[in-house]
Amino acid sequence: MALIVQKYGGSSVADAESIKRVAKRIVDTRRAGHDVVVAVSAMGDTTDELLDLANEVAPIPAPRELDMLLSSGERISMALLAMAIHSMGFEARSFTGSQAGMITDAKHGAARIVDVTPVRLREALDEGAIVIVAGFQGFNRDTRDITTLGRGGSDTTAVALAAALNADVCEIYSDVDGIYTADPRVIPRARKLDSITSEEMLELAANGAKVLYIRAVEYARRHGVLIHARSTFSSVEGTYVLGEGQRSPRETEGAVMEEPIVAGVATDLTQAKITVSGVPDVPGKAAEIFTVVAKSGANVDMIVQNVSAASTGRTDISFTLPKADAATALKALAGEKARIGFENLLHDDQIGKLSVVGAGMRTHSGVSATLFEALSEGGINIEMISTSEIRISVVLRGDDLAEAARAVHAAYGLDSEIEAIVHAGTGR
Ligand code: ADP
Ligand code: ASP
Ligand code: MG
Repeated sequence: MALIVQKYGGSSVADAESIKRVAKRIVDTRRAGHDVVVAVSAMGDTTDELLDLANEVAPIPAPRELDMLLSSGERISMALLAMAIHSMGFEARSFTGSQAGMITDAKHGAARIVDVTPVRLREALDEGAIVIVAGFQGFNRDTRDITTLGRGGSDTTAVALAAALNADVCEIYSDVDGIYTADPRVIPRARKLDSITSEEMLELAANGAKVLYIRAVEYARRHGVLIHARSTFSSVEGTYVLGEGQRSPRETEGAVMEEPIVAGVATDLTQAKITVSGVPDVPGKAAEIFTVVAKSGANVDMIVQNVSAASTGRTDISFTLPKADAATALKALAGEKARIGFENLLHDDQIGKLSVVGAGMRTHSGVSATLFEALSEGGINIEMISTSEIRISVVLRGDDLAEAARAVHAAYGLDSEIEAIVHAGTGR
């Protein structure tokens, strides 16, 4: 008998039929003799719809109230799921984040879990109940307010519960069969992976692969939680995310796994580019620019500075940041134009970012050459490049991104013979 934490995402509980399907899966796990704790997301696109509604009544919704609003989505699905399980003759109890002891810091909209005190969950388990917890939400002890963990945060709820309850595995269910070498909605020939290192998964998640939320992978890595990403809609085994020293339960003793050089390709259309042009090429200007940007709250990703034209002694600095942060950053920079002494500000929200991730890059050469060749053969122009130890990213025109990703995926020999199945969801 094991303790299994299961997380069901929005596409898995989009309507009454789906909720009943999920309830049956949970009950089957219980029947097999396991203790089950479930983290559940809001139904379908509920969170997006609530956000749209908030933006209709207020241009910048008050963060505390936004969390009150968004956390209601998960309350609906948790109660419905518990009811569905009840009607199948099993005891189930639903809990909000605060009832479940998900203690966070006070940062509305992006709260971090600081402690998990699952006293009530343990009691319910001891009494033989199936436990359902509202994902994506927590409670701050100082403000005594409800918080949310950021988009995709139910994954973190599940992993944090698995860590606190010392679960055997954290199963994350969604509308695809596991983690693929690329988003199957963008690259239908993407290949499902049996396992992936948490280091590689972190890079993929940080660069646009929303199949797992980056903070959940981080949390799992830190607390030694084994993640199994799999599908609600089929019973096939999914993908194991392996931290240091963890082994896939599927791997036979003593077998040596051949590590592919490239684990996957990620695409991201959520970034924008700002160019500060005519910046005096003297020490301290980059510091001034990025201090202003940081104070605006923006999270800068890539940075490129051109060689200055000798005749003018001025240079251009471009950087990327989330589209949602661009307006505030531009306003902050415009306000400091005279002090910093630059000439112009340009904003471009039509960019796309393509990243190639693989731990094998540490030991193999020629990985970037393959990327650049594939893009060149496709006639695709590169605007920015950045690298980490196990990742290469390029910025392109957003319109070129899907085509570029398919070409690059094929160039690394990642294409599968069969097309991947996306079972549900709108991809929103
Ligand atoms: P949920 O609603 O269950 O949280 P998400 O929509 O957040 O599900 O995540 C599942 C989606 O992630 C898939 O439908 C797929 O389009 C997308 N995705 C992006 N990159 C990958 C990848 N490498 N492997 C699998 N799915 C991916
Ligand atoms: N419902 C939240 C969202 O849509 C949290 C989650 O689904 O993980 O982002
Ligand atoms: Mg998700």
